[in-house]
Amino acid sequence: MTEAAQNAGHKAEMEKLQAAQREKRRTLTDPERGLVLVHTGDGKGKSTSAFGVIARALGWGQRVAVVQFIKGKWKTGEKQFFTRFPDLLEWHVMGDGFTWDTQDRDRDIAAARAALAKARTLIESGDFALIVLDEINIALRYDYLSVTDVLAALEARADTAVILTGRDAKPELMDAADGVTEMREVKHPFHAGIRAQQGIDF
Ligand code: ATP
Ligand code: MG
Repeated sequence: MTEAAQNAGHKAEMEKLQAAQREKRRTLTDPERGLVLVHTGDGKGKSTSAFGVIARALGWGQRVAVVQFIKGKWKTGEKQFFTRFPDLLEWHVMGDGFTWDTQDRDRDIAAARAALAKARTLIESGDFALIVLDEINIALRYDYLSVTDVLAALEARADTAVILTGRDAKPELMDAADGVTEMREVKHPFHAGIRAQQGIDF
């Protein structure tokens, strides 16, 4: 086949693809309510991907709230950065720290329930385009929260999109979500004995 024939074939193929894509887009609709997205899995990127969506929303001048369920005391780059937008963004740190650091189940449960109550209030307010519930799946996994209560809080949303992060997402939550992404670990520096890095991990 000549190069010219190859190029013509490619063009015809792309035209067909473009027409199919256009037809598909024509039938797409907006969701009736805000989207519910779950970021789970054992690989890195669950929280940082949610922070990427926050950047996107803020770029459009949309209002955003974050509720952190587990990591409490750590100073993080994301918090220092996003709290530079106080007119658009609220950042609530509700967790006391890693569960293995606190070692106090009652206190963890109380903190997780307070975080969910805050999340529900924010969702019900209708004031936010996006709410991120960071590491809520960890609180669910340790049964600090019931999945029924979390689903009830999500049901209270109108146009607010909600992103829930953390490994081991409950099947009921994944069923209820509009989108679920599983980060799969291929390799992590931690397993080569490398400690968490400022700017990369926190
Ligand atoms: P990130 O915040 O970097 O997007 P994540 O939200 O996907 O990570 P978490 O389970 O919340 O992951 O982990 C919190 C911390 O543990 C982060 O510092 C992250 O880099 C690190 N981490 C993530 N995945 C792994 C892994 N597979 N092994 C070891 N450490 C990990
Ligand atoms: Mg995380």
